[in-house]
Amino acid sequence: MRTFKTESKKLLDLMINSIYTNREIFLRELVSNASDAIDKLYLKSLTDSSMGLDQANLAINVAFDKDARTITVSDNGIGMTEAELEENLGTIAHSGSEAFKEANAEAQGDAVDIIGRFGVGFYSAFMVAKEVSVVTRAWGADECFRWTSDGVEGYEIEPVAADDPAWRDSCGTSIVLTLKDDTEDASYDEFLSEWKLRELIRRYSNYVRYPVQMLVTKSREKERPADAGDDYKPEWEDYTELETVNSMTPIWKKRASEVTDEEYAEFYKSTFHDWADPARTFSLHAEGTLEYDALMFIPGQAPFDLYSRDYEKGLELYSSNVLIMEKCADLLPDYYNFVRGVVDSADVSLNISRETLQQTRQLQAMARRIEKKITGELEAMRDDDREAYEKFFENFGRGLKYGIYSSYGMKADELAGLLLFWSARDQKMVTLREYVAAMPSGQKAIYYAAGDDRDRLSKMPVVQAVLDRGFDVLLCTQDVDEFCFQAMREFTAKGLPKAYADDAAREAAEKAAADGAEPEVEDRTVELRNVTSGDLDLASDDEKKAAEEATKANEGLFGAMKDALGEKVEKVAVSTRLSADGAPAVITSEGPLSLEMEKVLASGPEAEHAPKAVRVLEVNAAHPVFEKLRAAQEAGDEDKVALYAGLLYNQALLVEGILPEDPVAFASQVCELM
Ligand code: ADP
Ligand code: MG
Repeated sequence: MRTFKTESKKLLDLMINSIYTNREIFLRELVSNASDAIDKLYLKSLTDSSMGLDQANLAINVAFDKDARTITVSDNGIGMTEAELEENLGTIAHSGSEAFKEANAEAQGDAVDIIGRFGVGFYSAFMVAKEVSVVTRAWGADECFRWTSDGVEGYEIEPVAADDPAWRDSCGTSIVLTLKDDTEDASYDEFLSEWKLRELIRRYSNYVRYPVQMLVTKSREKERPADAGDDYKPEWEDYTELETVNSMTPIWKKRASEVTDEEYAEFYKSTFHDWADPARTFSLHAEGTLEYDALMFIPGQAPFDLYSRDYEKGLELYSSNVLIMEKCADLLPDYYNFVRGVVDSADVSLNISRETLQQTRQLQAMARRIEKKITGELEAMRDDDREAYEKFFENFGRGLKYGIYSSYGMKADELAGLLLFWSARDQKMVTLREYVAAMPSGQKAIYYAAGDDRDRLSKMPVVQAVLDRGFDVLLCTQDVDEFCFQAMREFTAKGLPKAYADDAAREAAEKAAADGAEPEVEDRTVELRNVTSGDLDLASDDEKKAAEEATKANEGLFGAMKDALGEKVEKVAVSTRLSADGAPAVITSEGPLSLEMEKVLASGPEAEHAPKAVRVLEVNAAHPVFEKLRAAQEAGDEDKVALYAGLLYNQALLVEGILPEDPVAFASQVCELM
């Protein structure tokens, strides 16, 4: 017996018990080695035409024997000489493939796309096997050798006799694993099934570039005998057939022009288990220091668990066509967690287990590029196919808004342009840029109202008051909306047609444009304002002055009302936003917290400590009710003033969709009035 070189025992033990977290990848490693061996033979034939290699025959075969408890992976690749067997399999962490790659890098350049690099993959076989035997015949050699090991101490190498059933007539390698016995907590039997092996090949080695074949059992109807009578019942028989299990050509390596939409959709549906076609398909081919191909999809529908804790984002990561990670989360930002796809790079540094990645720098570079690509693709969809985009936004818009909120607005540059909101004026979804572009001169802010029902919002007096001035209001019905807006504070609409300060300047520009100059554009930054928040600054100076004077003139009344309402409001004042035929009063808020946010927070997990909005009761001085209030005050009827104050306050809350704190008291106030 020859003992393993290097700190063999320890290393082997480490390999088998710690490096890999997943037993089943042994098949991926053996198939990858077989593919490498065929690659090497193929590369050799490129420089040696006398070899007469028949490419069509190059294949990998996977077989199993339930009774003998063996799995065999064989290839007709380059094989190994006795010395190579010793060197490659007798030395753990020696990669013959890495050495081959280096030797051939110059001669072959990019053609060398060999998978092996660490010299440990082979030993993953010992995770499932109690004995491994490798029979190999090197290309051009006329002898075969057998390497056997139990994966503990060492190995034997012996020549294979020509009359040995294992003898190979041509070059290549067969690896036979004798599986470990089942124990209480580990089953190895599961690998002895056609279904399981097929599944593993499909999962990890689907895009290995040579056919991975298996003898599969099928069933067919026996031929009907010529003399069969009327009562003949069809009979069935089993037969076996060599089938190629993997699909080989990675669709993401093909040019988009070579692939039909149907093929992309098929790939998407079968790979990501969706029954609906993707809403959009796009790819990315990066060249340079870090090369990779990415194929991505925007689903046509939201996965049912998208907003649950169990949802895992990520792209499939392949290295040289071999699956490394099913969900590489680092490749996608959270707000694009709905994107599905595949990234393939021969360049990413893998940990020797291949299951963990070694370097995050490359990943970060890839992730940045991927993010940009997704943003660009969504922008294109928004501009070219609005209907599809609105559907997309219905499915995934919430996540985009959340992305802005959770980044404290830092991601607004990337994402704000993608948002859609309901325009109360136009009765359709609009982007913020569209809103700003349509603003009449004199409008200072983007106005929005937040609540859970579009209909109710549009009827709110504060919304109507803004609409009445000719300004649009965005009606926001998702709980994240206002938090997103607060994080943004303002929005910059880029490249709007320039607004000229005076007619002369405009005419000059028009003339220049007529002479063929590019029309001038400008960016406009506009604040976002909730229509229920403090001073909206809608009123003219005269209106403001009048309201201030009216507030002052009624100091006594407002003082009494404030006393009656107590802590519920910060102050009572004359409103500048309500018209004569508008509501008698509205509740607005001062400071950053709006009534709607208060409501959202109060329904959240921190409800008990949720902060309260600072409320102001704004009274419509032109409304007949105001006269009643003044009359009560002048008559010195304190009880009546208090009653009216309570009623006004509660009905204004009701209009905003907030229940009075004490519904019973409110009901009795109404009765008292009657
Ligand atoms: P790696 O593939 O990372 O190089 P492995 O432990 O998987 O490491 O394999 C070690 C070496 O054994 C390979 O580099 C290769 O030289 C050799 N080898 C493994 N399997 C085969 C095979 N089927 N045919 C020829 N050579 C092989
Ligand atoms: Mg390998």
